[in-house]
Amino acid sequence: MPKDLHHIVGGAHVPGTSGRFGDVYNPATGEVASRVPLASAEEVDRAVRTAAAAFPGWAATPAPKRAAVMFAMRELVAKNVDKLAELIGREHGKTLADARGSIQRGQDVIEFACGIPHLMKGELSPNVGGDIDVFSIREPLGVVGGITPFNFPIMIPLWMGAMAVACGNAFINKPSERDPSATLFLGDLWKEAGLPDGIWNVVNGDKEAVDALLHHPDVPAISFVGSTAVGEYVYRTGTSHSKRVQAFCGAKNHMIIMPDANMDQAADALMGAGYGSAGERCMAISVAVPVGEKAAEEIVSRLKPRVQALRIGPYNDPVADMGPLITSEAKRRVEGYIVNGVKEGAELLVDGRGASLQGYEKGFFLGGSLFDHVSTDMSIYRDEIFGPVLSVARARDFNDAVRMVNGHEYANGVAIFTQDGDAARAFANQVDVGMIGVNVPIPVPMAFHHFGGSKRSKFGDTQMHGPQSVQFFTKMKTVSARWPSGIRSGAQFTMPTNR
Ligand code: NAD
Repeated sequence: MPKDLHHIVGGAHVPGTSGRFGDVYNPATGEVASRVPLASAEEVDRAVRTAAAAFPGWAATPAPKRAAVMFAMRELVAKNVDKLAELIGREHGKTLADARGSIQRGQDVIEFACGIPHLMKGELSPNVGGDIDVFSIREPLGVVGGITPFNFPIMIPLWMGAMAVACGNAFINKPSERDPSATLFLGDLWKEAGLPDGIWNVVNGDKEAVDALLHHPDVPAISFVGSTAVGEYVYRTGTSHSKRVQAFCGAKNHMIIMPDANMDQAADALMGAGYGSAGERCMAISVAVPVGEKAAEEIVSRLKPRVQALRIGPYNDPVADMGPLITSEAKRRVEGYIVNGVKEGAELLVDGRGASLQGYEKGFFLGGSLFDHVSTDMSIYRDEIFGPVLSVARARDFNDAVRMVNGHEYANGVAIFTQDGDAARAFANQVDVGMIGVNVPIPVPMAFHHFGGSKRSKFGDTQMHGPQSVQFFTKMKTVSARWPSGIRSGAQFTMPTNR
């Protein structure tokens, strides 16, 4: 009998009361590992009220003391990296090495949050006129929501949540219902780090819980990461309820291979960026764009044997390049795209369907697939597949490659491989994409810079982590102050100026 998971509200493990549960699978074996409670609107409301009660005390805690909790949390995440990676691997399926890398990227944001006393420093203008001093300060918003996807169950809650709580907010994380265990353990670690009860809450659920957060009058801001369809819905619904919303969404990331690129480096980069984590990354490269026929032949001839040699395995297989997909539906969906690609006329060079592993026959595994001669009207080019499928879409020349990138509705990440600085510079200037890599296949910016796409890969105008996250999770207050010695006598009925 699979065990039932819980929520974390007010620092306590709380059982679900809605009577609704979702199955959480071990994707390597296909077995149901546990059941996650799916919260009702009443349960979400209870969590918001608990968080709201805890908020004033935490907001009033001096920033250096909040930073001390961040330092403690950094140590705890580092100490528990193996356990966190194991929890991720068991439910998500990604390899332990990959999981550890993603935890590091979350820990980076905790490290950035350790600088919160500096990041939240205000502004002061002394004596702007008439002995008046003006100062602006940043204050936390209150109870903020974080809705997170399945593919990074530690990294993404930390991207948004570490900054939210460092700024003095109370945070309610609604993790993916597919792999909530690592995220729940993260909630326990925050408590151990000394964060007051009620400041980091984890409420599991599905659309009902998300809608309850989106409609809740006492939740002024929502940070979302997930697919574009849901992200756009979250953005529209949240903003129509007068909330601040940022939504980081789906992607179709191209990698341009210029004729002068080092083709072995480019092929290796495409393998890691295309098939790492079974392609279930929003910054995965899913389209390789060689420029010119010679580059196309060179890259395809290198990719094909590499894709055929990809090793699949369960998360704890130390030699596996990638694990299974998250669910059987996700596997079927990716298989459907492979069928469509063939129907639409692309050339399937490597077919990852039918991959099977001894002892894991019921796992949600797919091998790597590689398509060539993919054109921009095909569904495998237009849609985010979110699986281990790489499409080669050949470009005639540099301008053709830029046109392809700019013609796509998604604009999360893009990369160019070249030895020509001029071409790289022109490319970075001409593409309308949020994150650009020059000979860097997965250009996820470090925590002290900003993460975020463009066009339909992001809704809202602030970025994830970096200084803009402080802007998102705080509001500004400006005080104009004068002391009695500076006050002139007599009432003034005209608009005050400093002239
Ligand atoms: P998803 O959109 O299905 O789910 C994201 C969150 O929304 C989950 O917490 C889920 O429970 C909730 N949700 C799902 N359906 C909902 C609905 N109808 N109404 C309200 N809430 C709903 O995404 P996913 O499958 O968990 O994650 C994969 C997607 O996330 C991909 O599209 C990927 O590109 C994207 N992603 C984007 C980024 C980024 O930073 N741009 C990062 C990681 C993942």
